[in-house]
Amino acid sequence: MKAAILSAPANIAERPLRIEEVPRPSLQPNQVLLKVRACGVCRTDLHIVEGDLPPRLAHVTPGHQIVGDVIEGATVELAAGTRVGVSWIGGIDGTCWYCKHAMENLCDLPTFTGYTVNGGYAEYALARADFVFPLPAELDDLHAAPLLCAGIIGFRSLRVAGVERGERVGLFGFGASAHLAIEVLHAWNCEVYVSTRGESHRKLAESLGAKWVGTEVERPPCQLDRAVTFAPSGDVVVAALASLRKGGVVAINAIHLDRMPQFDYDSLLWGERQIRSVANMTRADARDFLKLAAEIDLQPQVTSFSLEQANEALLAVKKDAIDGAAVILP
Ligand SMILES: [Zn+2]
Ligand SMILES: [Zn+2]
Repeated sequence: MKAAILSAPANIAERPLRIEEVPRPSLQPNQVLLKVRACGVCRTDLHIVEGDLPPRLAHVTPGHQIVGDVIEGATVELAAGTRVGVSWIGGIDGTCWYCKHAMENLCDLPTFTGYTVNGGYAEYALARADFVFPLPAELDDLHAAPLLCAGIIGFRSLRVAGVERGERVGLFGFGASAHLAIEVLHAWNCEVYVSTRGESHRKLAESLGAKWVGTEVERPPCQLDRAVTFAPSGDVVVAALASLRKGGVVAINAIHLDRMPQFDYDSLLWGERQIRSVANMTRADARDFLKLAAEIDLQPQVTSFSLEQANEALLAVKKDAIDGAAVILP
């Protein structure tokens, strides 16, 4: 099969992914083999490919928003041909303190798809049978792929921020995850305030019904109940904090930040404001979100790339050159 392989992380401009012909993975116990139909491109893939996240394997195939058909390892619950999704959490140990306290997203020994095991920038991929999610028929391959990380983790961010119906919510940054979160927020009758760089991202936010849209240096015109930051920038976290009412929450939806700048406690955090990070996801997040996505007919904006264009897709994500999400069709 063809697969995109990372052997040495490097700046994406140096095209570190090589498209190679490799053996199709062989089925392992409790796993399924998927024929990949589509694989979304996530900013975390960029952090892996560029080495912001230290390599865990000598060679790895990235990609953790996989839409694929079960072709081997079928079970009674998961028949051959079932179309399923795979996300960033590819497995847990099931035995650590966090797993035993219903916090599987914080597992001490997790499997991360496309990082600690090979992912979906390939024609075939293996996945743990208990970590695949049957996909609603309403969602086609291309539009289901970005839901599997950008969508689920955006949804989890809203939960971590404690969003309640009808609240004022800020989205700081408006890429793949935020443009899905805004639709969920509207389904909950929230007012959405978007602060983002990039004229086309601002236009997209307007077209999706944001109450207010500004640049990355502008502040929403009112105090917010909740905010979610999507940019890998600590300055953005501080900007979000500065927009909150007392008792408000900022949820940071980023696996990596450039740095966390010093900020003034008295004016920004005092008053029971909170900063929380969003780490990974649970299977319940995935199931709840995919169900909601089908109900509200969530349609991501997508730009598709071939497997041969995997480096270009990541470069586009890095440069914020596309609106919505990038998806690889192998
Ligand atoms: Zn665990
Ligand atoms: Zn991701």
